[in-house]
Amino acid sequence: MTDAPSGTQPVPSPIDPADLATALRVIGRVHELPSEHPDVIAVRQATSAMYKSAKRERRRHKRNDIADANRAVIEATATGAPDRIDDETRGLDLAATSEARFVGELRKPQACYVCKEPYTQVEAFYHQLCPSCAEFNHSKRDARTDLTGKRALLTGRAREDRHAHRAQAAP
Ligand SMILES: [Zn+2]
Repeated sequence: MTDAPSGTQPVPSPIDPADLATALRVIGRVHELPSEHPDVIAVRQATSAMYKSAKRERRRHKRNDIADANRAVIEATATGAPDRIDDETRGLDLAATSEARFVGELRKPQACYVCKEPYTQVEAFYHQLCPSCAEFNHSKRDARTDLTGKRALLTGRAREDRHAHRAQAAP
């Protein structure tokens, strides 16, 4: 269902206009009865479903808006870009496309992949890291050690930082 702009034809209703008129007439008179009268309770229960579904729909819209806004920020980063192409074995280095240090702010905080602290400011390169962990990772990523004549043993996950290992392990 789409939101019809005002001035256009309303969505066709399966409710008979005469039935609707009766319902409105009854609802308009319910206040004449004591609030605990079974008829009042029946009308209240019947209408509460309508309020609840409207509330659910509003909440769902809000959640979708937040998710869309967060996705847009993540997709502006180097590691979270949907068209991310980096194959460092072929010399394709991943780089931030944004000049600014941060690409945006999340509407809903997410937990940092490393320190688990919630953060909203998203760094241009690492979409899963809080600003301080991102800064630390950059310093490690750019670190250089001369490994000439040495053997390198890589343990654990070396996904984000293959960059550093490859750059200096080559003879
Ligand atoms: Zn962190």
